[in-house]
Amino acid sequence: MKNLFYCALFIGVLACGGQQEKEPSSIVESFDFERFKSEFIDAMWKMNPISASFQGLHDFDEKLPIPNKERTQSQLNFAEDWLVKLGAFDYEQLSEADKIDYHLIENDLQNTFFYLHEFKSGEWDPASYNLGGVFFQVINYQKHSLERRLENINEKLNHIEAYYSQAKMNINQPTKIHTNLAIQQLEGSKTIFENTLLDSLNASLKDEAFKQVFNEKIAKAIGVIEDYNKFLKVNFIEESSDSATFRSFRIGEELYSKKFNAEIQSAYSANEIFEAAVEEKGDLHENMFRLSDMLWEKYFGEAEKPGGRFEQIQMVIDEVAKTHVHRDSFVTAIRQQIPELIDFVNENDLVTMDPNKPLVVRETPEYMRGFAGASISAPGPYDAEAETYYNVTPLDHYNAEEAESYLREYNNYTLQILNIHEAIPGHYTQLVYSNQSPSLIKSIMGNGAMVEGWAVYAERMMLEEGYGGDQLEMGLMYYKWNLRTVCNTILDYGIQVLGYTEEDAMQLLMTEAFQEKSEAEGKWKRARLSQVQLCSYFTGYYEIMQLREELQEQMGEEFDLKTFHEEFLSYGSVPVKYIRKLMIRKLSEKNNNSI
Ligand code: ZN
Ligand code: ZN
Repeated sequence: MKNLFYCALFIGVLACGGQQEKEPSSIVESFDFERFKSEFIDAMWKMNPISASFQGLHDFDEKLPIPNKERTQSQLNFAEDWLVKLGAFDYEQLSEADKIDYHLIENDLQNTFFYLHEFKSGEWDPASYNLGGVFFQVINYQKHSLERRLENINEKLNHIEAYYSQAKMNINQPTKIHTNLAIQQLEGSKTIFENTLLDSLNASLKDEAFKQVFNEKIAKAIGVIEDYNKFLKVNFIEESSDSATFRSFRIGEELYSKKFNAEIQSAYSANEIFEAAVEEKGDLHENMFRLSDMLWEKYFGEAEKPGGRFEQIQMVIDEVAKTHVHRDSFVTAIRQQIPELIDFVNENDLVTMDPNKPLVVRETPEYMRGFAGASISAPGPYDAEAETYYNVTPLDHYNAEEAESYLREYNNYTLQILNIHEAIPGHYTQLVYSNQSPSLIKSIMGNGAMVEGWAVYAERMMLEEGYGGDQLEMGLMYYKWNLRTVCNTILDYGIQVLGYTEEDAMQLLMTEAFQEKSEAEGKWKRARLSQVQLCSYFTGYYEIMQLREELQEQMGEEFDLKTFHEEFLSYGSVPVKYIRKLMIRKLSEKNNNSI
């Protein structure tokens, strides 16, 4: 049964014909390209030992590159050299999967010039020199013996003084908000040195001589971090009466557009996506107003409506949100819902689910609990045999008021949408498909907009297919949830490019997106500290909806939703524009053959 409330909202903006390309992939070429990729990845990790640790490759854990001019130059040389090597391949001769890898590598190398020549966050973001997480990655790597980890750290610590003295030289007119963030984060990072590293040392079998040297290095490292923090406070925070001390946190249109292209890798420009989001917001409001009208009597009987659209929607949302699980059954409720989602997907033929890979729901391990919530934890590219979990944090640490507010946010309706997004057929399902075509390049350079876009698309698609039945409440809460994604995009572009004030942001998030004050304030902070990432959800979603519509138009009766999903997912976590190119071409080849 189709649910009428979820008609497609998108009209094609970008009309491109399918491009014709020759396909014969030569065996020699593909062998060479495999070798090229593997050499490139090795060289890349050698060049970027810190990123390697974060991706789960711990071969270079003892290294700590100093962020000086020589390093910048060698990064630029690296990008130039490898672009030349990449350019030596005949793109047309590569297989489809390799063509995508080619684009991903090319984009990654070209981004180097943008980040080092233009974006230069090392000048204005003092928090980019926070080494707490870097050392934590090394000490937390359980596959190395504790003694080996400590040896790596012992060597890494030798460079920490040079690292921070270079950091001080690099900083040039930072933003105030990033400076304050750095001071706060580095204060927290000290505990990794003071506690985590020293506790590990004491638990180890290292001899007294090693322990003594290590202890001295830790004491010195803490001194260096404190000195860096003092430098930030004295030179910037205490001088802040002079407004010229700081640069604006807004990166402006030019840098924003370039960063958007570098990270999102969309077929659309940042401005086109912003405009699409504004239009989508209007459509969502109309739908929400209509549903709040239909639900009014059920919750308010004969009472008179408030008059204003936003007030009316908000009042109905507040009533619907009261339907929620008990705080003690939050994890159980999620666990029970997974089989229901799987049944719905199977019964409606939406995408094939591998019964050999059931999703394990668990309580979030203590060390991962930053804040309450739910997330998928998937093994990294260098840890492929590890399990995939759906982590759900119980509400143990909440007082009654906090728990109530959280449970209203994740009421019975929204909780189901969350499970669709995180698990079935959202992130978890996408991950299973993506792992079926393993490519180290795709795992390392995976596209966040495609991954988030798929999860957001999954929510819409499930409701279109009738999930939730006729419950108007489900529709209303879905639209509120979707509105967050849409408003994240508007907020990000609005703050970074259009100069939105805090007042503008609060109007957008609290009045027009029906968010609590605490959530809105958190978002206002995040949107000043980061750029572009908040757009990834809506952009990926928008491009998937566009692609589906385009294929539906071309295929007419032949279009099959399940086939579309499975083919779409089979390319892995890569930018939607590349998947589109390959899917459109496949279709035109099929049409040519059948004539
Ligand atoms: Zn309650
Ligand atoms: Zn997500």
